[in-house]
Amino acid sequence: MPRLPRVITIDGQAHTGKSLAALKLATALDLYLLNTGAMYRSVAHLLGEAGVDVLDMGRPADRVHALIEPWEFALNGQDVHVNGVPMPPTIFDEPMNALASAVSKWGEVRRKLQAEQKRIAGLHPHVVCEGRDQGTVVFPDAEVKFYFVAHYDVQVERAARKKRELKPHEPIDLAALRRSVERRDHDDKVRPIDPLRKADGAVEIDTSHLTPDEVLARLLKEVAAWQSPAT
Ligand code: C5P
Repeated sequence: MPRLPRVITIDGQAHTGKSLAALKLATALDLYLLNTGAMYRSVAHLLGEAGVDVLDMGRPADRVHALIEPWEFALNGQDVHVNGVPMPPTIFDEPMNALASAVSKWGEVRRKLQAEQKRIAGLHPHVVCEGRDQGTVVFPDAEVKFYFVAHYDVQVERAARKKRELKPHEPIDLAALRRSVERRDHDDKVRPIDPLRKADGAVEIDTSHLTPDEVLARLLKEVAAWQSPAT
């Protein structure tokens, strides 16, 4: 049995198929899956419940820090618990995208979640971590790194499909969806702290014209190349 990388990272833009690819890779290689976007979504949800206006850039940073400091995360796929309390499935709904993106700009939130990500990864022998800063900031020494991109039209199509799955009876405003996908990727790339960018050594994968199985095959090929480097 060839040895497995300790950490594999998948970063990239929204709706490029990162979550499904990470899930399929975790299943194929028996890795622990860390969906870090779900953690930002949980923070946005919990801070909202605590009465913090997460769209306010002039937030009460000390209060936010005091609120989030004792939070301990436990993740099992899309299932997130914070201090033992399950997060509602609505954290994955479209309106949470902008709220998660808003709290991801806050240094105190990023530091807290990055520490939690390292702690959780330390509990498992082999992990695949999916997000925006995993290969660049949290696990710069990861053995195998990926960076996912896709054409905007494909991203919007996938966002619409996801919305249809979650809310089959709600009409979809494609122009608004397009703006929100563009806006989120733009915000993630230009934020001053840990912006989304391709990590050094990451393999870029354009998933626009690939099926999920084709994406998995690409990932497995890179893992195999790491296992048996060409001499
Ligand atoms: O991956 P997902 O779409 O669930 O992430 C939601 C938001 O959380 C992203 O748009 C990004 O702003 C933020 N995020 C982040 N760093 C990560 C994962 C997610 O800033 N590692």
